[in-house]
Amino acid sequence: MDGVFEEIKDRVSMPEVVKFYGFDVNRGGMMCCPFHDDRNPSMKIYEQNYYCFGCGESGDATGFVAKIYGLRQIDAAKKISYDFGLGLFDHDRAVPIKTEPSENQKFRSWINSATAIVSAYFDKLSDWRERYRPKNENDKPNALFVESLQQMSYVEYLRDTLKFGSKEDQHDMYEHDKAVIEKIRQRLSKVKYYAPPPRRGSI
Ligand SMILES: [Zn+2]
Repeated sequence: MDGVFEEIKDRVSMPEVVKFYGFDVNRGGMMCCPFHDDRNPSMKIYEQNYYCFGCGESGDATGFVAKIYGLRQIDAAKKISYDFGLGLFDHDRAVPIKTEPSENQKFRSWINSATAIVSAYFDKLSDWRERYRPKNENDKPNALFVESLQQMSYVEYLRDTLKFGSKEDQHDMYEHDKAVIEKIRQRLSKVKYYAPPPRRGSI
């Protein structure tokens, strides 16, 4: 039976597993840890393992699935085998494990990553508000400055609700604002590596 754990390691990577179960891994291979209240992605996803720099949780793909779904190692292996079609068990198809991550785990995980996204966008907007402020009344307003004027108070409201809101308010966002947060995530991914133009006269 030990062979199945090795076989899983050989055939599915850690990043594939976490993505399959709905977690977002950023370009640096980091994601928000589902095992503690993680505001910034502090869990590193390696090829075969994970490690959280926040709470110290670590393990392999089978261990991750076991922990998320509250399963024994062997049942987590069965679940992975079933979900990825690995055929490692005789009755693979007959024993789908239907356990889902608990509603609360999904909620917590979403709140964590939404907070990270919205805070990062808010920081950008604050930066643009100062950096691109028109120098005199004849200046054509910079598009990023205008974006900060239009978005900043709304984004601040979202951020504060995610960070400090009541559980009811947070649940309300979880129910209704997924599309809004996804839009911000996409916007942010476009500006993340945006370097400000060099100031005239410098260098
Ligand atoms: Zn953690």
